Amino acid sequence: PRKLLIVVTPTYNRALQAYYLNRLSGALKLVKSPLLWIVVEMNVASAETADILRKTGVMYRHLVCSKNMTDIKDRGVHQRNVALEHIAHHRLDGIVYFADDDNIYSLELFESIRSINRFGTWPVAMLAQSKSKAILEGPVCNGSRVIGWHTNEKSKQLRRFHVDMSGFAFNSTILWDPKKWHRPTSDPIQQLDNVKEGFQETTFIEQIVEDESQMEAVPPGCSRVLTWHLHLEARGLIYPRGWLLQKNLDAV
Ligand code: UDP
Repeated sequence: PRKLLIVVTPTYNRALQAYYLNRLSGALKLVKSPLLWIVVEMNVASAETADILRKTGVMYRHLVCSKNMTDIKDRGVHQRNVALEHIAHHRLDGIVYFADDDNIYSLELFESIRSINRFGTWPVAMLAQSKSKAILEGPVCNGSRVIGWHTNEKSKQLRRFHVDMSGFAFNSTILWDPKKWHRPTSDPIQQLDNVKEGFQETTFIEQIVEDESQMEAVPPGCSRVLTWHLHLEARGLIYPRGWLLQKNLDAV
């Protein structure tokens, strides 16, 4: 049987949310089953998100994170934690992938992820206007081995692994079975609430793999870009409060 794909997406109401969620759900709909889409919002499950999820035809769970966001930089962090707790609590056995709502994903990526045994990683293209970002972030590979990292000068020495949030996926059983996987620490996976911005990914990954030798290049050779990270400033866009209209628009 095909491995379960567990796609985790934090999301929130904003001008481009309908665009993002419709686009992502359209992609997920085309992925072969079994796939479970875990969508997590802060404080309340919004009617807009629920409406999109109901119509996708994708198997999903709509979860809510009730923890207070302590810092604006915590974007999506608590929500991903809620999803991880859910996966571990219900022992959902599959490959976990953090797919932010705003990125762009090729279908080939989802199929490639399925063949991951422990931990897979790949380069993500950065669609950014700012020059301080690397153009690619992620592994340099030799066949299926990871031998180095694409990165920008600024962050070079500081981060252990240069991986974007949407540039890796892992076997969910690592979460509750550290012994089987010889995880670097046998403690429960630490929540990332107090981790500095930019260090979320590496801090998380350091808890589930020891080093590059435990990583798999996806696809082997990492010769193709399969994910694009979009940095679009959408502030200032006009947005009706929600997009479900309570009453008909007034006729002119
Ligand atoms: N996100 C969220 N609440 C927030 C900010 C972000 O749920 O207050 C989600 C967002 O929908 C996306 C992910 O977290 O799925 C990453 O957010 P963003 O794209 O803003 O982060 P960046 O790409 O700048 O790292």
